[in-house]
Amino acid sequence: MQILLRKIHESKNDFSIEKNGLVCRGKFWRSGKHSVIVEGTIEGDVSLHCDRCGEAFTKHIAEPFRIEVVDRPLKVDESLDVIECLDGIVDFDMICESEIASIQSEYHLCPECEGKNDFEMEF
Ligand SMILES: [Zn+2]
Repeated sequence: MQILLRKIHESKNDFSIEKNGLVCRGKFWRSGKHSVIVEGTIEGDVSLHCDRCGEAFTKHIAEPFRIEVVDRPLKVDESLDVIECLDGIVDFDMICESEIASIQSEYHLCPECEGKNDFEMEF
């Protein structure tokens, strides 16, 4: 789903996208002359890799997110939650994919490793 930034109004609109079995839904609205806010939740079963044993596992998540999309160059001190779209197109699929990717890149332990105590040593 893609929408021209200049066509987004100040009144809130709903969106809902399905990506890789996850549902990404929320609202978007204009927050300034060159910016819109996309706010929502990503919910569903995400496939992850355990950072300790490397096993693949799935986990149910419901992660809120808030992104600002601007059609001007970013300032150096701007936060990571600001995305620039210099072509003026707000790409909701890209936003959802990058949110899912950032969830997957966090530190995760599979249920088995999570249950183990870090300080327990076996001899
Ligand atoms: Zn593990």
